[in-house]
Amino acid sequence: MAGRLDLDGNPIKPITICMIGAGGFIGSHLCEKLMSETEHKVLAVDVYNDKIRHLLEPASLPWAGRIQFHRLNIKNDSRLEGLIKMADLTINLAAICTPADYNTRPLDTIYSNFIDALPVVKYCSENGKRLIHFSTCEVYGKTIGSYLPKDSPLRQDPAYYVLKEDTSPCIFGSIEKQRWSYACAKQLIERLIYAEGAENGLEFTIVRPFNWIGPRMDFIPGIDGPSEGVPRVLACFSNNLLRCEPLKLVDGGQSQRTFIYIKDAIEAVHLMIENPTRANGQIFNVGNPNNEVTVRQLAEMMTQVYSKVSGEPPLEVPTIDVSSKEFYGEGYDDSDKRIPDMTIINRQLGWNPKTSLWDLLDSTLTYQHSTYAEAIKKAISKPVAS
Ligand code: NAD
Ligand code: UDP
Repeated sequence: MAGRLDLDGNPIKPITICMIGAGGFIGSHLCEKLMSETEHKVLAVDVYNDKIRHLLEPASLPWAGRIQFHRLNIKNDSRLEGLIKMADLTINLAAICTPADYNTRPLDTIYSNFIDALPVVKYCSENGKRLIHFSTCEVYGKTIGSYLPKDSPLRQDPAYYVLKEDTSPCIFGSIEKQRWSYACAKQLIERLIYAEGAENGLEFTIVRPFNWIGPRMDFIPGIDGPSEGVPRVLACFSNNLLRCEPLKLVDGGQSQRTFIYIKDAIEAVHLMIENPTRANGQIFNVGNPNNEVTVRQLAEMMTQVYSKVSGEPPLEVPTIDVSSKEFYGEGYDDSDKRIPDMTIINRQLGWNPKTSLWDLLDSTLTYQHSTYAEAIKKAISKPVAS
């Protein structure tokens, strides 16, 4: 670990990082990486710490003393500014970021992704601290190609669907399609951060994740989250597979996504942290353009991989179709296709994703099976109280 160099050959000095949302999916993997491979200190801020407890206890862990958990809600806690002042860098991951919430809890979604992030940006700017802010690929909204006639040959032209940080427009649906409350709030906070950089010299990096997936993502309904809760697609499909239920395809599962393994994506964030001169002032897509599938193909692949890792035969009817209104309620809308352009991150940080979709599903579903299969069996066999 000693003597590590940045991409320009300069020695990396240990820093203190205030990580807000450190107890979530991405935060837990980033904390793990920083503890095991660097000498940086982390002030881990969140309302929960279940996903990083293995890094906080016991006190004999090799990195004890380099990670401190601060249980606080950034909506209303005056300790936030002090923590940002104590750190060299703030990473803001805190957000409501599950699509099932965007149209059913639009106010909470907008407050969480815009209003609650404002003080973080303000404290970084006023105190001359660097900020890495997590936005989303959803700021691109729908592709230009989705508005072309179905049979238009232009739909095959990457110019109409590949998403580029510095040239693609942000295309959202109408206001009554409340799905876009999240993307719109994230876009406005991006614009505010960019303006703080331009007018007040804030040193910032904005990250746009493209469907990062892996162990510890979200929750399994009724096991470590509410039984009526609707997590993101990886956890929804894992839950169906664990319970031997057909996977639900929203509106036919025709939307396309590119999935990236969390560990590949964390490498990119690690490079941003340790190469500030290359990362400051940049907006980075972080995804894997080689792992594109329709949601239907994802369901088929997960069914196959899960059968391999669990040793159970696949269901005879592996999927069922549901309408988006039935599944998410009024106001849902969808991103049609999300392929990240990798030019900027490649040029600035020389980073590329590595893991194929099959391999990342194999390791993730092995984790899901070993973590949840027994608990699900017990939950299913429990008699229902009358
Ligand atoms: P997550 O829900 O697992 O993590 C977010 C964490 O923030 C949670 O632990 C939550 O408790 C915490 N948090 C929320 N509000 C808070 C508050 N007011 N005070 C303190 N803590 C609070 O989500 P994630 O997948 O780890 O995503 C992290 C960030 O990346 C989010 O900003 C999200 O919008 C963005 N993002 C992620 C993906 C992805 O593929 N995972 C895709 C697009 C964008
Ligand atoms: N989806 C689905 N079945 C589910 C959960 C999600 O068909 O059980 C679809 C959803 O409509 C979307 C895609 O899967 O088209 C990805 O959804 P996710 O919640 O992961 O978030 P998104 O990529 O839309 O931000």
